[in-house]
Amino acid sequence: MNALQLPENPYLLLTPGPLSTSKTVKATMLRDWCTWDDDYNVNIVQEIRQRLVKMATRKPENYTSVLMQGSGTFSVESVIGSVIPENGKLLVISNGAYGDRMIRISQLLRIDYKTYKLFETQLPDLAKIESILADNKDITHLAVVHCETTTGILNPVKEITHLAKKYHIKTIVDAMSSFGGIQMDIDAWEIDFMISSANKCIQGVPGFGFIIARTSELEACSNYARSHSLDLYDQWATMEKGKGKWRFTSPTHVVRAFMQALLELEEEGGVAAREQRYTQNQQTLVAGMTRLGFQTLLPIAYQSPIITSFVSPADREYNFKLFYDLLKSKGFIIYPGKVAQSDTFRIGSIGEIYPVHISHLLHSIQEIKYWSN
Ligand SMILES: *Cc1c(COP(=O)(O)O)cnc(C)c1O
Repeated sequence: MNALQLPENPYLLLTPGPLSTSKTVKATMLRDWCTWDDDYNVNIVQEIRQRLVKMATRKPENYTSVLMQGSGTFSVESVIGSVIPENGKLLVISNGAYGDRMIRISQLLRIDYKTYKLFETQLPDLAKIESILADNKDITHLAVVHCETTTGILNPVKEITHLAKKYHIKTIVDAMSSFGGIQMDIDAWEIDFMISSANKCIQGVPGFGFIIARTSELEACSNYARSHSLDLYDQWATMEKGKGKWRFTSPTHVVRAFMQALLELEEEGGVAAREQRYTQNQQTLVAGMTRLGFQTLLPIAYQSPIITSFVSPADREYNFKLFYDLLKSKGFIIYPGKVAQSDTFRIGSIGEIYPVHISHLLHSIQEIKYWSN
């Protein structure tokens, strides 16, 4: 087969990103844009920035947004590296790989930090956080992941940031895998810096991340950056002054596709409707998998509608690679597990995925349950 004649979508991605996206999102990438022309900057980038802020809160006047080249992690690193002053101290709460990634970033950037580490299946304990904050008066910033994609656990962000604010601590939330798919109001939730990316619940394609920041907090960060290319303040100041201008080459096609993805999110009925669809996907999945004899890693009460970890079957004949390959041949890509203490696999419920696809998936899993015949 000629490489240019690949079938359009040989399988659905039931993964935490990149996700299956709509045809219309992909189609927008079939033309070129000039990075400094108004058609691009003013009409697309500025429009996106305003829409993101409006999506994030009912108090858009308090917030601004910045788009940042790279995958989601680049935006996380941009925030951690740009908003904490030299004498600041960061508390990172971690119950998974993405929390750990913020710890690693802080370490490499030589930021003074403290960690509150938990098992991947544990929720942070609010009383414990409060005692850490009370005993460590030098902590100036707190970072936490909303949906920890490692397991699919949903952390009590609102309660955590509320505690942080009681101690006058600035709040950073990695809402990478939840923003656009779970309703939130970052002003009501007392979040100063919220991070997400193009290829998660907004259903765009990968290539940039974005930060929604309390304007008064970002304005104070002009001299804190520890990296030039990831300088959040400078990127923001350039976008403000240049009406959508990025500092360096921007992922124009990806940005155009993202604009389309935002329109499609609006058409669907906004975040509330999308959350409902993802929830339906996830509940259909868990109900069906339970019928097939699978067990979720997390108690249902901890579970997000984004991605679900299942315990691998105990049968000796089961192995993930074979299970994966068989499902792939039937049109579904699933994800390996990422939990230290148990053998698991993950199935995502986000992207251009509907309950009917989940039903097909369940049917396929039933057909290939080769290990229990
Ligand atoms: C996807 C994701 C990220 C970013 O990952 P990239 O591979 O850099 O895009 C960060 N945090 C969470 C919780 C995520 O789900």
